[in-house]
Amino acid sequence: MASGVKPFDTIVIGAGIIGLAAACHLTRRGQRVLVLEKDFPGAGSSGRCIGGIRQQFSTEGSIRLMQESVRQFERMEEEFGFSVEYHTGGYLFLAHDRQRLEAFRSIMPLQKKLGLDVRLLSVDDILAIVPPLNAEGLFGGVYSPADGQAYPFKVLDGYCGEIRRQGSEIKMFTPVTAIVVERGKARGVRTAAGDTYEAEAVLNAAGPWAKEVAAMAEVEIPFYAEEHEALITTRLNRLFEPMIVDYRVDGCYFQQRANGQVIGCYTPNPNKPGIHTDASMEFLLEMSRRTVRLIPALAQARVIRHWGGCYEMTPDGSPIVDATAIKGFYVAIGMCGHGFMFGPAMGKFIAQIMLEGTYPYDWSEFKIGRDFSRLELMK
Ligand SMILES: Cc1cc2nc3c(=O)[nH]c(=O)nc-3n(C[C@H](O)[C@H](O)[C@H](O)COP(=O)(O)OP(=O)(O)OC[C@H]3O[C@@H](n4cnc5c(N)ncnc54)[C@H](O)[C@@H]3O)c2cc1C
Repeated sequence: MASGVKPFDTIVIGAGIIGLAAACHLTRRGQRVLVLEKDFPGAGSSGRCIGGIRQQFSTEGSIRLMQESVRQFERMEEEFGFSVEYHTGGYLFLAHDRQRLEAFRSIMPLQKKLGLDVRLLSVDDILAIVPPLNAEGLFGGVYSPADGQAYPFKVLDGYCGEIRRQGSEIKMFTPVTAIVVERGKARGVRTAAGDTYEAEAVLNAAGPWAKEVAAMAEVEIPFYAEEHEALITTRLNRLFEPMIVDYRVDGCYFQQRANGQVIGCYTPNPNKPGIHTDASMEFLLEMSRRTVRLIPALAQARVIRHWGGCYEMTPDGSPIVDATAIKGFYVAIGMCGHGFMFGPAMGKFIAQIMLEGTYPYDWSEFKIGRDFSRLELMK
């Protein structure tokens, strides 16, 4: 242990939304937590996301997870003492063919059973919600007004403040290089500076780097990172409210922030595996074409920033949040492009898994030893 340091109950590796939310909930439950971050909070995917928050998923596990996250986003302003710009403008998924519309329809009974306000829309209904939309080729869509957005940097800042206020620590620029395992039990970690920190439990919340951190404890996880890019425009007059999701092969998703900026991205096809954060000219041109095709008025918009980041992927499109075969070593990884919205609920539930050894509900969707062949339909 680094000299003079009081032992910690838990070490969290990674100060992205997942590590910070977990550290915050563990701290609130009386744990003394040390968060070790190789760069700074938000340096990974969490500072590179576009802030979308939705409950429209195709599985009970993810819907219930998001219902809990939304309850927490609703309370954040009060808890953190400042606004995280949480705003419910809705999510609108577009269907440009009948199969896609049928896929949306097939999920609705489950979504409604779990209490979501989700609506199947005709093209006219859609135009009533997004009047400037180019509806060429559109079949219909599905919409939930309760979905929305928040500002990632403010959410991260809120968690950092809360963790420190409650007596836990965040150490920046401290890469973890080894996990200390003795007789099948995690005992702590070693850092690049040569310090060893001891704790009863270690949580891998290393985002795109999760596979290499798991390997430090000789834990294998089915996981890969892939690159996604995003852009943001100057502030514009209000054009539309919801996040617009176009599922075509050359589709994209974008929303207008509360301050008028339009922010969005698309899923590259083919995917670009690996940890890259390049910002390509191809994306800039293609994203501009795709957004203007949907909202022609955006031809006037000016892009002010464009960046790359990672999605942390698993074979079935759902996270892996669980204990591992190494006692005291836990993983909360593979958020598959939804880690910002999943974060608050994951933080609460990982604290339950680590402290009580119980799951909040049927957790089969997120377990480490599950069958990975089922696919999340609303990726
Ligand atoms: C362009 C883009 C748009 C997105 N849009 C959305 C969206 O609208 N809504 C949504 O919910 N999600 C979105 N996401 C996904 C979301 O950003 C991620 O799923 C989420 O941020 C993952 O959080 P995390 O805490 O697991 O990982 P990260 O934020 O990457 O945090 C992991 C941290 O671990 C640190 N770390 C790694 N290795 C070590 C080590 N050895 N020692 C110490 N520290 C280490 C890293 O530096 C990093 O800070 C988007 C992602 C991208 C790239």
